[in-house]
Amino acid sequence: MWFFNDEERELKRVCRNFAQKELAPFAAKHDQDETFNLAAFKKMADIGVLGITASPDYGGAGLGATAATIVMEEFGKVCASTTLSYLAHSILCVNNIQNNASTEQKSKYLPKLISGEWIGCMGMSEPEYGSDAVGIQTKATRSGDNYKIHGTKMWITNAQYADIAYVYTRTGAEKKQLSTFILEKSKGHFAAGKPIHKIGMRASPTGELIFNNTIVPVAQRVGEENQSIIHLMKNLEIERITIAGISLGIAKACLEQSVRYANERKQFGTTIGHFQMIQKMISEMAAETEMMEHYLYSVAKAFDQGQCDKTSAAKVKLNIPKMVTKIALDAIQIHGGYGYSREFPLERYLRDNKLMEIGAGTNEVMIIIIAKSLLELN
Ligand SMILES: Cc1cc2nc3c(=O)[nH]c(=O)nc-3n(C[C@H](O)[C@H](O)[C@H](O)COP(=O)(O)OP(=O)(O)OC[C@H]3O[C@@H](n4cnc5c(N)ncnc54)[C@H](O)[C@@H]3O)c2cc1C
Repeated sequence: MWFFNDEERELKRVCRNFAQKELAPFAAKHDQDETFNLAAFKKMADIGVLGITASPDYGGAGLGATAATIVMEEFGKVCASTTLSYLAHSILCVNNIQNNASTEQKSKYLPKLISGEWIGCMGMSEPEYGSDAVGIQTKATRSGDNYKIHGTKMWITNAQYADIAYVYTRTGAEKKQLSTFILEKSKGHFAAGKPIHKIGMRASPTGELIFNNTIVPVAQRVGEENQSIIHLMKNLEIERITIAGISLGIAKACLEQSVRYANERKQFGTTIGHFQMIQKMISEMAAETEMMEHYLYSVAKAFDQGQCDKTSAAKVKLNIPKMVTKIALDAIQIHGGYGYSREFPLERYLRDNKLMEIGAGTNEVMIIIIAKSLLELN
C-alpha cells in the first residue's frame, strides 16, 4: 500500500464508502442499459469531489493530481463508466477553467459546476482529427464583439448531459493557432448530436457536440486568441495521470474477485487456488498491481510538486492501462466459463479498461511522445 498522508487516507475512505453505496449496486445495470447514473453523479458534490482540484474560493477542494487519482481509483474500482464521466467533468472541464480562465469566468462557472448544478464536458476531438488534435477544424471566426463557431466535436464524454462545454477551436491559419471557449447549452452555444454506442464505458454518455454557425460573445473566450495550445497540452498531463487511476481501480477489482473465486471454486476435489497455474496468475496480478500503485502515486505526487518531466504522464498512461488489460484477461481466465459470462463483472472490467488505451491519447501516441523526447526529434 502506498504511504498516503492522513488527509489522503480520509479521502480514500470517503470515496470508497461513496462508491460502495452509490455506484456499486447500480454499475452492472447502467452498463447493460447504456444509461448514466445521474443521481450518483450529482451526489458527488456532497463529498466535495466535483471540484477536486479547484480553488476553495469557488467551492473546490483545492487539492491536486494525487487526490484526484485517489478518487478515480476508488470510483473506478466499482464503476469505471461513471468515473470516466466524473473525470470529464472534474479534470477536463473544471480543472481547465480553474487553470486557464479569468477570475470573472471562474466566478461565473466554477461554483455551479462544483455544486453539481451544472455538468461539464471538454471538446477537443473531431470526426477527422483525433490523435492529430492540433489539426482540429472547428472554426471560430471573429466579427466585432462576437465569434461565429462552426464544426463538430466527436467522442465527447457527457455531451448529452453537459450544461457547459470547454471547447477548442481553430482561430488562425497556422496549425497551432487554437483558441478555447466556455460554452453554455442554455444559451444555444452548442447542441448535443447523436449518442455513440460503445463496447465499454457504456454508462458514460458519449456523443457529438455540434456548432452550426453559432454566435458567441468574445467574453466566452478563455485567455488570448490563438494561445490555447499550451493549455491543451498541460491539461492532457493531469488527464493521463488520473485516467490511469481508473485502470488501477479496475486492477484491484480483478485481483479481489480472482482471490475470492480461487478460494471458492472447486475442481478435482479441491479449490482452484491450490493449482500452481492459478497461483501464478494471481501472484503476478498482485505484484503488478502493487507496482502500478507505487508508480502511479509517485508520478502524481511529482506532478503536484512540479517535478514531472514532459514524458512522465505519457509513460504512466502507456504502462498502466496496457498492464491492466492483461490483468483483466487473466481474471477472466481464472474464472473459466463464468469469467466469459455476464454473471461476473470481469468482462465489464475488460471492456471498460480498453478505453484507457485509447482515450486521452492512444498507446501509439504515448510511444511517439516518449520517443520524440528521448531521441530529440521534432
Ligand atoms: C469513450 C471515449 C470517450 C472520449 N472522451 C473524449 C472527450 O471527452 N473529449 C475529447 O475531446 N475526446 C474524447 N475522446 C476521444 C479520444 O481522445 C480519441 O478517440 C483518441 O485521441 C484517438 O483518436 P481517434 O479515435 O480519432 O483515433 P485516430 O487518431 O484516428 O487513430 C487510429 C489509430 O491510428 C493510430 N495512430 C494515429 N496517429 C498515429 C501515428 N502518428 N503513428 C502511429 N499510429 C498512429 C492510433 O494510435 C490508433 O491506433 C473519447 C474517446 C472515447 C472512445
